[in-house]
Amino acid sequence: MRLMDAKPVKTTCPYCGVGCGVVAKPDGRGNASIQGDVTHSANYGRLCVKGAALGETIDLRGRLLYPEIGGARVGWDAALAHLAQEFQRIAAAHGPQSIAFYLSGQLLTEDYYVANKLAKGFIGTPNVDTNSRLCMASSVAGHKRAFGADVVPQCYEDLDVADLVVLAGSNAAWCHPILYQRIQKARARGARLVNIDPRETATSQGSDLQLSLAPGSDIALWNGLLVWLAEHGALDRAFIAAHTAGFDAALVEARAQAADLRDIRKITGLAAADIEAFYRWWAETPCVVSCYSQGVNQSAQGTDKVGAIINCHLATGRIGKPGAGPLSFTGQPNAMGGREVGGMANMLAAHMDFSEAERDCVRRFWKAPNLIAGPGLKAVQMFEAIARGQIKALWVMGTNPAVSLPNADGVRAALGKLELCVISENVASNDSAPFAHIRLPAAAWGEKDGTVTNSERRISRQRAFLPLPGEARPDWRILADAAAKMGWSREFAYPGPADIFREHAALSGFENGGRRAFDISAREALSNADYDRLRPFHWPHPKSGEPQRRMFANGQFFTADGKACFVAAGRASLAAPISGKWPLVLNTGRIRDQWHTMTRTGKSARLSQHIAEPFVEVHPQDAARYALADGSLAQLRTAYGAAVLRVVVSPGQRQGSLFAPMHWSAENSGAARICALVQPLTDPMSGQPEAKATPALIAPLAAAHFGYCVSRELARPEGCLYWSASRIAGGYVTAFALDAPEAGLAAWARALAGEGEMAAFEDAACGIHRAARFDHGRLERAVDLGPGLASPPGEWLRALLLKPRLTFEDRRSILAGRPASGEARQDGGIVCVCFQVRSAPIAAAIERGADSAEAVGIMLRAGTNCGSCVPEIKRMLKGAALPFKVAAE
Ligand code: SF4
Repeated sequence: MRLMDAKPVKTTCPYCGVGCGVVAKPDGRGNASIQGDVTHSANYGRLCVKGAALGETIDLRGRLLYPEIGGARVGWDAALAHLAQEFQRIAAAHGPQSIAFYLSGQLLTEDYYVANKLAKGFIGTPNVDTNSRLCMASSVAGHKRAFGADVVPQCYEDLDVADLVVLAGSNAAWCHPILYQRIQKARARGARLVNIDPRETATSQGSDLQLSLAPGSDIALWNGLLVWLAEHGALDRAFIAAHTAGFDAALVEARAQAADLRDIRKITGLAAADIEAFYRWWAETPCVVSCYSQGVNQSAQGTDKVGAIINCHLATGRIGKPGAGPLSFTGQPNAMGGREVGGMANMLAAHMDFSEAERDCVRRFWKAPNLIAGPGLKAVQMFEAIARGQIKALWVMGTNPAVSLPNADGVRAALGKLELCVISENVASNDSAPFAHIRLPAAAWGEKDGTVTNSERRISRQRAFLPLPGEARPDWRILADAAAKMGWSREFAYPGPADIFREHAALSGFENGGRRAFDISAREALSNADYDRLRPFHWPHPKSGEPQRRMFANGQFFTADGKACFVAAGRASLAAPISGKWPLVLNTGRIRDQWHTMTRTGKSARLSQHIAEPFVEVHPQDAARYALADGSLAQLRTAYGAAVLRVVVSPGQRQGSLFAPMHWSAENSGAARICALVQPLTDPMSGQPEAKATPALIAPLAAAHFGYCVSRELARPEGCLYWSASRIAGGYVTAFALDAPEAGLAAWARALAGEGEMAAFEDAACGIHRAARFDHGRLERAVDLGPGLASPPGEWLRALLLKPRLTFEDRRSILAGRPASGEARQDGGIVCVCFQVRSAPIAAAIERGADSAEAVGIMLRAGTNCGSCVPEIKRMLKGAALPFKVAAE
């Protein structure tokens, strides 16, 4: 039991880069109720369904609580002494650059700061990178190239006052839901939304214009806009002349690629009328915000895509003004904080680069004995260097590279070659854990104290409201303790996170003189009490000024001459083109109710209701061509790996493209680690991998037997062609498919049910086998196996897991495979997770006359809490079937 004061604590959500404020009310027994913080300007009290379910993810199930060496529990002293000894041995034998750190956008800024200082200043290795490389590195490179610094010019308030919002490569309705709701509020007062995405998503439901462009054609579309602006007198010539450089070359390049609508239509595959509407709206609307996210960043031409978007804002002087400018939506909660402290391989701390003067500045400030000479290896190249044996030791913090990096099977093989793999984690088991020689228990959300920075440069506090469990420690402290073991106790003697924040703030202002954008030196002397009370604020906040919400309104940039740079964004195409062997394009991404590799959101039964199984979305014509039925299973292949996924036939999917989510791992599925299929191609400037366009092929999976297992503990069936498990109240549901097992079907079903008090049913002629195991009158496992594609187990069977003692009727119903008479059937999958509203009652409400999402909300409450399901309700209102039929029935 975890005891702590039961008073409300203001903190921030640990998931996406919106950075919503949260109020956690601990119950004093280790749990907490979660509400949105009405005083936080990122969300004004609203939370999406992931944030609202945070309270369901903070228990100690599956936590790593004690340090381990080689899988055996040890004390902290022994673990860190071994780590220090091994790091020193490897550095002496192979040089410090043979040691690498792989960090995470989940770390707090204070954790990140200490990791960078230790690695880049003291151990002396430049090989420090982060999973943020997979999320927004192209935006960083694009900002630096255009503005001379990694600065997001806008803030969220700009969405409230914009008259046109453009979303490029962003399924914001699912991935940044609170910002999407903000955009919808703007639409309600007359603003327009243009959604640029090869596939129709939940975001499309609330847009005024959907541009389903061909994959890889974004640059042509934006270059075409630049040409249109020039030809329709929509340029701000005075701004271009006074505050920018390189316009003429950028326009020449844009013209060469996209001279007129015919060219653009040909490249993008869009209708001329749609292209023209987009260009006209953009040209006519002074207050336009162009938002971009993973669909732009996760590309082998991501930096040029960002450049092509920024070009249009610079050409019209629409930057840094209320309601006008480019705005990158960051994926992770603290990707921005990591950038501030130099958490990426190509930067030093406090936004400094590798000039002699800046290196000297950092060296003197840190009194660093081994400051690095230049940039290190970026994430994909870092793991390639591990595979080659060039990097011998790796410290992974708060991330799961065996699932989330491209060519994830290659990453697994690389992890297996390390002489030393250290993993700081808060979960006891994930796909990367088996490769660790040393495991260190880290604090989880709710136990951590520090700061994070969201997509709009707003720094907020994350505050602990739960005590540290077992022997878990905050990441910054683990790092500082390890540094002490390596002989640097004085340089890393931080009593608490406030001391680290003060040092970080002081470095940001050290010899800055207005040259570096990142400056929060006004906060360098704040007291511990001030740090505890710290209210969210935007950076920069130099000693001599106020926090700045918007940047560049004065036309002054951070380049040598103070001018912004246009980029001649060249012709883009698919980085690896499709071929006869690989005729389709695999696009990967996220779903509404899961986060990253599901180590936290996967614990919530509520969040598993929306989409319970890994799936691949296929256009109906591709489904017909490859003989794929909706709800069947398909094998997906690329040159790098294979997966087996549930087929969802969706007219919103672009013909020739496939979409699959990246969340599932070997922890909860047999073959659904989608990043194992993703090519390790990267953008030459940003190093960000291309996660949206891997050449692929698909074929139906022929399996003879299908079924489900409802279980109290997670069931991982063996010998299956497919399985995937998801949380339900009181346990799990596992779907599976297999060929005839050697031992026979009845024996296989019994083996999956496990040993103990057993009941079984068999209709061998029909190929139906059921087996159930009980313990002290409770249901432990129920297996239902048959010849055809099975429907997910009904609510009645799931509910039996929660019964403390089953009746004779209950047991009979399990073996009969149907509910006891009189039990109501629940129709349709869950649409509204907050109020548990299924698709059938929503369809019935629409039939009874509900003609808007609001009307459905009044009748059923669906969509009236977090609002995450409103796009799906709108889709049903338009008469379209929900494309996500893999939701639990
Ligand atoms: Fe968290 Fe949702 Fe807000 Fe993102 S939008 S920070 S996931 S509550």
